Amino acid sequence: MVKIFIDPGHGGTDSGAVANGLFEKNLTLQIALFLRDILISEYDGISVRLSRSTDQTVTLSERTNAANSWKADYFVSIHINAGGGTGFESYVYPGVSAPTTTYRNALHDEIARSVDLTDRGKKNANFHVLRETSMSAILTENGFIDTTSDANKLRNASFLQSIARAHASGLEKAFQLKKKATNLYKVQVGAFKVKANADELANSLTSKGFDAFVLLEGGLFRVQAGAFRSKQNADELAAKIKQAGHDAFVFQ
Ligand SMILES: [Zn+2]
Repeated sequence: MVKIFIDPGHGGTDSGAVANGLFEKNLTLQIALFLRDILISEYDGISVRLSRSTDQTVTLSERTNAANSWKADYFVSIHINAGGGTGFESYVYPGVSAPTTTYRNALHDEIARSVDLTDRGKKNANFHVLRETSMSAILTENGFIDTTSDANKLRNASFLQSIARAHASGLEKAFQLKKKATNLYKVQVGAFKVKANADELANSLTSKGFDAFVLLEGGLFRVQAGAFRSKQNADELAAKIKQAGHDAFVFQ
């Protein structure tokens, strides 16, 4: 059993960075909840805890104490950057070695590859959550809330979902997580070589009230609108999406 502790940055009276009508504490929570859901629903042999699952004030010590007493295998702190700039970067504690560096490389490379943000590089910092955790830890800074182009991406739930999915794929590689053997019926709306085209379609679906997210599979950016155990539910969703003017097909 791999124990992953997810730490959505800030919360409650601590908003984190605020700009462009966005609050860091809300974005980090959304990404963390998406990540928890993906890990629990798609992988076997994994146990997940969060430092908070609501808009709640939690001190830094409370966060690291919770992970330490649970004896987590890995600590993932999720943040949004501020201060001018653009893109994604990750942090580990200065001077750490494997497996912390190996885990970080797996997550960083996956996020940099599949999320539509510039790669600002792999960095070190003496942050509380990296220093006071007794297990390997990473802190990710996912875009700049005070840079308009990043903020406009962070406004979209499908973009936050793509960040969560990239964290999950990185964790899968780092810990050799095994996918659940389920035969889900998936509703696919499009597949593109260019990620921007997939994002555009996902945003258009979201604006029409559908859930949609982009995932990289077999070299194509696929826009998926849902996955069901029941084929009938998948067919019904595909029919609604067709009524809304898009192509959709169901596959296993
Ligand atoms: Zn932060």
